[in-house]
Amino acid sequence: MKNDLNKVIRELSEIYDEESKNTYITLYLNKKTGIKFFKRRENACKLLLSGLEQKNFTKTMDTIKDFIQKNEGFKGAIFASNEHHFLKSVPLPVEVDNSLIVDSSPYIRPLARIQDEWESFTLVLVNSNYAKIFSISLGRVEQEKNLSADIMNKHKKGGCSQARFQRLRKGAIHAFFSEVEEALEKIADKQIVLAGPGQAKLQFKDMLPKNLKERIVDIIDISIEDEKELLRESIHLISKLEEKKSQGALQQLKEEILKDGLAAYGIEDTLQAVKNGQIELLIIEKGYKLKGYICEHCQLLKIGSAKNCLVCGGLVSEVDVIEEILEFSKRTDAEIEFTDDEEIAKLGHVGAILRFK
Ligand SMILES: [Zn+2]
Repeated sequence: MKNDLNKVIRELSEIYDEESKNTYITLYLNKKTGIKFFKRRENACKLLLSGLEQKNFTKTMDTIKDFIQKNEGFKGAIFASNEHHFLKSVPLPVEVDNSLIVDSSPYIRPLARIQDEWESFTLVLVNSNYAKIFSISLGRVEQEKNLSADIMNKHKKGGCSQARFQRLRKGAIHAFFSEVEEALEKIADKQIVLAGPGQAKLQFKDMLPKNLKERIVDIIDISIEDEKELLRESIHLISKLEEKKSQGALQQLKEEILKDGLAAYGIEDTLQAVKNGQIELLIIEKGYKLKGYICEHCQLLKIGSAKNCLVCGGLVSEVDVIEEILEFSKRTDAEIEFTDDEEIAKLGHVGAILRFK
């Protein structure tokens, strides 16, 4: 799912109206309060648009309403444009703020933020004869796999010697772990949390190949029956890790700036870097938006407002500069981190670690 969401964001970032007309509607819908909110926004937008844009808006809203009616209780994001025969829905199990945006491209920022905050991971609950593998995405279990083995219990029975018995038992556990490893190899995410009682999970870890071992972000000591508690604990753990990751990104940015290394910061600087495809990791202040405009003709993006493009004199559309930076970055496969650390505000609300300079 993590990769799915990443793919969806990437695909959406590629879409824009070449003439920069207001043809795409993005709707983030939170079922509790959604409908009422949209009536008001819909009326306002309709009032502000005219001609073909208004016509497209009305038709697109009809498509969206039709979708909502057919998918009762839908919660998530909808991207649509009647003119471009486009409709894409992304169900989201997490809370989203209601919003309706009319723009020349799908508005992906809330989606990117959700992806950043709810990183998916794989949870492995293991002991010597039983294992359960969970894939957790957006705070929910998406998939699980159960494995168990009939391992001889610790006490020898029958004729064989104690030493031979221990050897056989060890062999059986090893075979079982190999089976778990094989299953894990197929579904493991970028982050793995290992859990279980006693030593078994550590023995399991020791026999994992490097590429899986490296992805283990934590090990939790827990009884095999405490599944619910384990899920809670691991989700909490991952959100803590995410916090650490964004702090780490900011720290890296600061270090790069200090040594005049691979960094960009502030709107203008970052905008330049994004246009050159230099951005490896984009760091954005969580709630910050900045009014700007984009030229319908030459795609020039500028802060502030204007009637015509400074370069070619073409017509311009109003945009959120941060969203544009995000979309441009996504198209070049940059990673995105959101932070509310005030340091990013001081640096100019956005910054980036660069691939090259
Ligand atoms: Zn222009």
